[in-house]
Amino acid sequence: MRAAIFDSRSSTPGGWLFIEDIPQPQPQSGTVLLKVIACGVCRTDLHIVEGDLPPIQPRIIPGHQIVGEVLEGATKELPIGTRVGVSWMGGVDGDCWFCRHDMENLCDHPIFTGYSVNGGYAEYASVRADFAIPLPAGLDAAHVAPLLCAGIIGFRSLRVAGVERGERVGLFGFGSSASLAIRILQSWDCEVYVVTRGESHRGAAESLGATRVGNEDAKPPVVLDRAITFAPSGKVVLSALSSLRKGGVVAINAIHLDQMPAFDYDKLLWGERQIRSVANMTRQDARDFLALANDLGFRPRVATFPLEDANKALEAVKHETESGPAVIVL
Ligand SMILES: [Zn+2]
Ligand SMILES: [Zn+2]
Repeated sequence: MRAAIFDSRSSTPGGWLFIEDIPQPQPQSGTVLLKVIACGVCRTDLHIVEGDLPPIQPRIIPGHQIVGEVLEGATKELPIGTRVGVSWMGGVDGDCWFCRHDMENLCDHPIFTGYSVNGGYAEYASVRADFAIPLPAGLDAAHVAPLLCAGIIGFRSLRVAGVERGERVGLFGFGSSASLAIRILQSWDCEVYVVTRGESHRGAAESLGATRVGNEDAKPPVVLDRAITFAPSGKVVLSALSSLRKGGVVAINAIHLDQMPAFDYDKLLWGERQIRSVANMTRQDARDFLALANDLGFRPRVATFPLEDANKALEAVKHETESGPAVIVL
C-alpha cells in the first residue's frame, strides 16, 4: 500500500514525510483493517514531524483523524463496510485506576493514533476495534475528518467547563476547535463572547454569529459563567479568569502552556472559581459529539490534498494558508 511515512532519522523541514510502498498491515486479534477514505491533518501532526513531540517510534505513519471503512476483522458492532472514525485516542489499557473510574482520557498507558502506532496517512490502517467509532450516515468523509480531533476536544472543553444552556461563555482564541464549539454553544442558546488576537480570527467569529468579538486587550462587557481558552498562553488564562463570576470555570484547551504568571488569589480565584485543563477525550465524548454534529449538520470548510501531497498539507497547516482544516483524501 502507499503510505506517507515520517522517519525521525531522515526527515527534513518541509520534506517531513516520504511516500512509500509498504506491506499492508496484517489483521490482529482485536483490530479491524480499514480502507482509509480520508484523514485530517492536525497541528499535533506538525508537532510530531517537527520533533516538538519526541518520537516514540523511529518510523511512523502519522494521522489521527481517520475516516475509513471496515475491510477485515469485522465484529457484530462493526460489520464489513461500516464507516468509522478513529481519533488520537487509539486505545487504553482498560485496567488502570483512571480507566476503572470512567476517566479513560487520563489512562496511564494510552495508545495514540499516528504517534505511538501507525495512523491514517495511508491507503489502509489497522486500528483497535473498540476505538473505531461508527459514524452517523449524514456526515461525509472529508468533512467529518477534522471533527475527529478539534471537534471532539472542543466539545470536551465545554463539558469540562460545565457549560449549561443559556449561559454566557467566553472563547479566548478562535481557531478550528473554537469555530466548531461556537456552533454547539449557539444550539444551547448560550451567549458567546470571543476574545482573540488576529483580524482574520475576529472576522471568522463575527461571521459565525458570536454575541460580541473583541481583541485580546478587550474584556468581555459582561461577567462570564464559563470560559474556554485555546491559546498556549498563561496570560490568556488569567484574562479569562478575570472575567468570571463566582463559581465560574475556565477550561484550558491547550496541550502546552508557556507559563502561568503569578496572580492575585483574593481577586481572581477566591469565590470558588476554578481553572481546569482538558486532556485528550473519551469514546463517549466522541460518540456524543458526532451525534450532535450530525444533528446540527456540521460541514466545516476543508482543503483537500492527495496522499502524495501530504507534505503540502502539513505546510498548509503550518502557515495557515488555507481557510479551513487540511484533509488528505485517499
Ligand atoms: Zn488505563
Ligand atoms: Zn489532533
